[in-house]
Amino acid sequence: MEKSVFLRNRAEWEKIFPLKRNVNWTGGKIENGYCADCRLCCGPQGDDDPFPMALLDEQTGPANALDFFMMDSHTACLGRDGCKSLGPAGCKLEQSRRPPACGLFPVVLIDGRLYFYKACPAVTLASSQELEALALKALKYLKNLPEKDCRRISISIPADEIAKKYIDTGLEVFVGIKSLRG
Ligand code: SF4
Ligand code: SF4
Repeated sequence: MEKSVFLRNRAEWEKIFPLKRNVNWTGGKIENGYCADCRLCCGPQGDDDPFPMALLDEQTGPANALDFFMMDSHTACLGRDGCKSLGPAGCKLEQSRRPPACGLFPVVLIDGRLYFYKACPAVTLASSQELEALALKALKYLKNLPEKDCRRISISIPADEIAKKYIDTGLEVFVGIKSLRG
């Protein structure tokens, strides 16, 4: 995928998606009507920096190496080649095998705080009220998870990258340093 796809502005996304699609929080995950014709966040990434997708304790095991590129035993990732589990018809994994971040995207939990991934059309094409409502639903869901799971799935990203690629919702799921690793 061309790197420029990550830089699409609202007008460019509106050409691809002339009609707004539904983005709702359903059954513990975001049902995103844009995903089927997008696949931006599952597919090849525009740079060589791996994007981490933490796994819950119960999702760890040797089979993960078949489904994902792995950064460590608890952290799958996608990079220049995208995700190993992306097939022609979308994600090949059943929901329980997917990293929790996949169900939250474009909401991203970074060091306990919620952000939106700017490149996602569901973010670019949404109103601020729609984004606020989505973020609050994600916050409520995450606040009801055990804190150790929230700390596990929370990722760390350099501040300059956060500023470039993410929108800060101002909502905190937990405070204090930091995400669990390894
Ligand atoms: S970038 Fe957004 S719309 Fe595209 S696949 Fe990811 S979550 Fe779906
Ligand atoms: S596990 Fe599935 S939903 Fe998650 S990044 Fe990979 S292909 Fe996409």
